[in-house]
Amino acid sequence: MNKIKPKKTLLKKCSWIATMNPDGMIYNNYDLLIEGNMIKSIQKDCREKVDEIIEGSGKLVIPGLVNTHHHLFQSLTRCVPRVENAGLLEWVMNLCEIWRELTPEAIYTSTLLGLGELMLTGCTTTTDMLYMYPKNTDSSHFIDQQFKAAGDIGMRFMPCRGSLSCGVSDGAIPPDDIVQDEETILEDCERLIEKYHDPSPFAMTRMAIAPSSFFCTTPRFMKRSARSARKYGVRLHTHLAETSDEEEFCREKHGVRPFELMESIDWLGEDVWFAHCVHLNGREIRKMAETGTGMSHCPSSNMRLGSGIAPIPEMLNDGVNVSLGVDGAASNDTSDMIGEMRTGLLLHRVNTGPDSLDTREIIRMATTGGAKVLGFDSVGSLEPGKAADVVMINMNQLPYAGALHDPLAAIVLCGASHIVDTTIINGEVTVRQGKLTKICEEDIVKNANRIAGEMMERAIKRTGINFLEKPMLIA
Ligand SMILES: [Zn+2]
Repeated sequence: MNKIKPKKTLLKKCSWIATMNPDGMIYNNYDLLIEGNMIKSIQKDCREKVDEIIEGSGKLVIPGLVNTHHHLFQSLTRCVPRVENAGLLEWVMNLCEIWRELTPEAIYTSTLLGLGELMLTGCTTTTDMLYMYPKNTDSSHFIDQQFKAAGDIGMRFMPCRGSLSCGVSDGAIPPDDIVQDEETILEDCERLIEKYHDPSPFAMTRMAIAPSSFFCTTPRFMKRSARSARKYGVRLHTHLAETSDEEEFCREKHGVRPFELMESIDWLGEDVWFAHCVHLNGREIRKMAETGTGMSHCPSSNMRLGSGIAPIPEMLNDGVNVSLGVDGAASNDTSDMIGEMRTGLLLHRVNTGPDSLDTREIIRMATTGGAKVLGFDSVGSLEPGKAADVVMINMNQLPYAGALHDPLAAIVLCGASHIVDTTIINGEVTVRQGKLTKICEEDIVKNANRIAGEMMERAIKRTGINFLEKPMLIA
C-alpha cells in the first residue's frame, strides 16, 4: 500500500527568520522547509521539490505566538458601556448577567471570533478558561463547542475547564444560581480530559483544569481539582493576586495572603500557572521561581481594570517563567497578541524606566515562555524537528518603513493593524495574505454581532438593568 507523502511547503528566501532559539539566531535570506506538520530545515537556497512555495522576500518569519490566558466567550461583551469604567468586581458582577445568556451557538461563535483575531495577529497556540455554565441553556457541552471551533479554524488549543464552585451563600462573590456543584465540575473535567487531552508532542488538543479564583471557590476544592489534574497529568491554572480586593478577601476569609493560601494547598510547581500575579511580594516571587510555577502576564487587562502592574522585571530577574496572555476580550477589548507585546513593553518602561524590559524579552515571553508555561515543548521557536507553527509578517508596508535596522524590535515598537501576512499551524496555512483561510471572516463578524445583540437584549429584559448606559460619573 502506498503511504501518502506529507505535504512540503517552502518559505523561500525569507528576508529575516527570527528563530527565538536559545542563541536568538536570525537568518537573512534563508529558506524554511516544512514537511507535514514539522519544520524540516532552515537553510540557504533549498532545492528540494515541494508542493507549495511561499515567497519570503520582505517578510519577517517568527515562531507562532503562544497565548496563556483568555476567556474567549467574553468576545461578545466588549465595550459594554455600563462597565466601561469599572474595576474587576463591579465589572464581573454586571457582565455575569449578560453571560447568563450564553448558548452553545454563542460559545462556538465567540470561540471562532477570539481564535480568529488571535490567529490574524500571529498566535498559533492558545489556552482558554471558560467558567460560565448557565442553567437556562444546555451548557453541558460548551467546551466541546470550543474544540469544534478550534478544529474548524485550525488553532492549536488547550482550554481549561474553568469553574465557579461557591456562591454568595458560601461567603463567595458569584450569585448562587450560577455556581456548579463540585461533583458535576470534576466529572466534566474528567470527561473532557479523556475525550480531548492528547499528551503527544505535536498535539492539537489538550486540556487543563482551572477553578476560577479564590473569590469563587474553596481551598478544599482547589485541592480536589489538583488531585484530579495530577491523576491525569494535566496542568492547573487560576487567577491569582490580580487585585488588592483579592488580598483583602483572602486575609479576611482565610487569614493569609492569596499566594500563601496556594502554598498551603500544594498549588505550586511546573504543572501550575497563574494569571496576573500583580500583588506578590519578593519572597513569593522567589518561591514562584524556585518551584517552576508559571506566570501569565496580562498587561492590557490589568491596565483596563486598573488592577495594578505585575512586577515582571523583578520576576524575570529572579528566574520566574513568564508568559503573555491577552486575557478575556471584555477586559482587554482585543485578542491582539502582537498588540499585547507592545502594551507590556511600554507598561513596564513607564513604571520602572526605559531599560525595564527589552523587545527580545517580551517576544520571548510570547513564544518560548508561553510554550514552557503550557508544556508544549514542540512550539515557541523555529528549529528543525519542532512543530510547523510559523508566522510571516510583511515588513514592506508603511508602518514598518524606516524601521528595518531591527525588524524584530519593529513588530513590537511599530505597526498599525498588527495583522500578519501568513500564519501556519501544524503545517497548515490558516492565514494567507492577512485573511483566515478555513472560515469566512464576514460570517464570524455577522454572527457575533447578531448573537451579542440578542444576549444583550435578553439580559436587559430579564434584569431591568440598562447595560447600554454608562452610570453617571460623580464630578
Ligand atoms: Zn482572566
